[in-house]
Amino acid sequence: MATQDASSSGVSFETTEEWRLIEQSLDDFVEREVDPLEEELGETWSNPRRRHEADGRVVPEVREAIETIRKKSAEAGFYAMNLPEEVGGEGVSNVTWYRAKKHVASHGPGLSRHVLAGPEGPKPLLLGADEAQREAYLLPTVRAETSTGFAQTEPGAGSDSPNMATRAERDGDEWVINGTKQWITNAPDADFLQVFARTTPQEEAGRYGGITCFVVEADEYEVGSFNNAVGSVGTQAEVHLDDVRVPDDRVLGGVDEAFYDAMAFLSLGRMELGAEAVGNAEFLLDRGAEYAREREAFGEPIGTFQGVSHELAAGRAKVYAADAAGHKLAWKMDDGQQTVEDSSIFKWLSTQALWEVADATVQVHGASGLSEDNPFMDVLHYARILRVVEGTDEIQLNTIAKQMGVL
Ligand SMILES: Cc1cc2nc3c(=O)[nH]c(=O)nc-3n(C[C@H](O)[C@H](O)[C@H](O)COP(=O)(O)OP(=O)(O)OC[C@H]3O[C@@H](n4cnc5c(N)ncnc54)[C@H](O)[C@@H]3O)c2cc1C
Repeated sequence: MATQDASSSGVSFETTEEWRLIEQSLDDFVEREVDPLEEELGETWSNPRRRHEADGRVVPEVREAIETIRKKSAEAGFYAMNLPEEVGGEGVSNVTWYRAKKHVASHGPGLSRHVLAGPEGPKPLLLGADEAQREAYLLPTVRAETSTGFAQTEPGAGSDSPNMATRAERDGDEWVINGTKQWITNAPDADFLQVFARTTPQEEAGRYGGITCFVVEADEYEVGSFNNAVGSVGTQAEVHLDDVRVPDDRVLGGVDEAFYDAMAFLSLGRMELGAEAVGNAEFLLDRGAEYAREREAFGEPIGTFQGVSHELAAGRAKVYAADAAGHKLAWKMDDGQQTVEDSSIFKWLSTQALWEVADATVQVHGASGLSEDNPFMDVLHYARILRVVEGTDEIQLNTIAKQMGVL
């Protein structure tokens, strides 16, 4: 039977010349700008337990190194290259952004994590900014001169975020915001936060309506205790908003519309996080395979034992499947298709894959897998975090079940 030529099927996994150049430049950047900083920091960086002060805050020299990387990456055109050119990005496709995120993560859990914009960087919600807000908030963040954060979660509302207790009330041409947020990434170091508050009661506006996003500057909110997670210390904190007054021009997007605006970008967040999971898993599989070839027990390389080789092979298969799902998600986003189910499937698959691969990598390395001198337990902890943020495992499965018409 005649087979169709791959390019005429409309689906392509082709590695373009443009991508090859980006990949090479990213590798050069990490080698030139990131690796020397890690070396210079020495033990302060290589031992995660030395990166923090007593309360969890990241030590100044590490924060400085992160800032240097962000700024140099922005200058080189990498940092926010997925954003449109008119706001300082490079306008690359979602497929390219997916590959770039994954590729940088495949360098391992180092400072390279800060080369491409993460939660502290310009998120598409900021693209809804008006002209003055663009100048004041979006553009400096694209240039990595400032950083931000996304303040939604509260003590009483995480997965059920529309049920938030934070309120904003209009008072003349100002808004008065009251509430407490927690687990807000970059809150201790951000120049401004994007704060979600209820502005119209649920009974009137419906579950997803009635929520507005405000730009709140660093000197207007109070940072409470750090919310240190095993695997992510010194980055998340409580945010207290006590009668915070902001002018009307701090509303980002439409009044009462923020939840719908944020939902439109849900797939991107899940794609970025999943790309990081796939890249980290590829890094671990390479280390595991290398060790399985070299380490000997009972007179044989341990890779010759099926218990070891199958762990690695099963991990490879899971990461392969997750990567294919990531490519498909990015491609559908570029094609303008609806990706609610795809992004949940990818987020669930990729974070499960990283969790299982990280556990297998620790096991394959025996006692040295548990050692503080190796990064494997740190990735395992980070993998656990990825199964909770940007929608927990259960929330992803709920979304998939809803799309199937089951739930
Ligand atoms: C490292 C880290 C960084 C974070 N950064 C940010 C940030 O920058 N900004 C921000 O706003 N938030 C942030 N968060 C918070 C994160 O988004 C929430 O933790 C997450 O949404 C889950 O909410 P929760 O912790 O309140 O758990 P809950 O929502 O209370 O869930 C508890 C458990 O119940 C399950 N559950 C809840 N509802 C359902 C349901 N309907 N069906 C089935 N199971 C359900 C959950 O899956 C989970 O297993 C961060 C969290 C961490 C750990």
